[in-house]
Amino acid sequence: MRALQEEGHEVAGAFVNPNIHPYLEFEKRLEAAHQAANAYRVPMAHEDGYGLEEFLQKIVGHVHERCPICYAMRLDRVAGLASESGYEGFSSSMLVSTHQDHQGIRAAGAAAAAKHGVEFVYRDFRASVMDGVRESKEMGLYRQQYCGCIFSEWDRYGSRNAGRRGGEPSGEEGDG
Ligand code: SF4
Repeated sequence: MRALQEEGHEVAGAFVNPNIHPYLEFEKRLEAAHQAANAYRVPMAHEDGYGLEEFLQKIVGHVHERCPICYAMRLDRVAGLASESGYEGFSSSMLVSTHQDHQGIRAAGAAAAAKHGVEFVYRDFRASVMDGVRESKEMGLYRQQYCGCIFSEWDRYGSRNAGRRGGEPSGEEGDG
């Protein structure tokens, strides 16, 4: 947010994350998003409800290819919010993550932008990832330990014990 503000953009936040599981983790991240928005003095929109069922319905049968589906779902909804609210464009906090697929995010963002008639503002924020970590610590924000979905939570915490438990590791690890 700060980088775009420094470029002179009028910035607003939007929390669109039906991919975050379980629900208590979703609540923690939503609260952190509102705290950050307050600190940056920007409005923060979020959708009513959780969206768990819709997310799972979209990725069922595509667990190992789930991230492009997840990017498209979320960025499409953010682009729609931006368009409805009269903003010229939208971006994504995922672009600060060193774990995410930037080309995949860029493609999903461009598709959403074309659909809703707004611009996808792409920036490679990865070089400033540690600045973001420092700022979030200074603000006392809750810090996520895995990307969001239940599969990424398994990758982070469960797969290291997969052999012992007989479990099944899956997909990529990331955060964003
Ligand atoms: S790993 Fe992250 S980007 Fe991929 S599907 Fe899960 S929440 Fe979405």
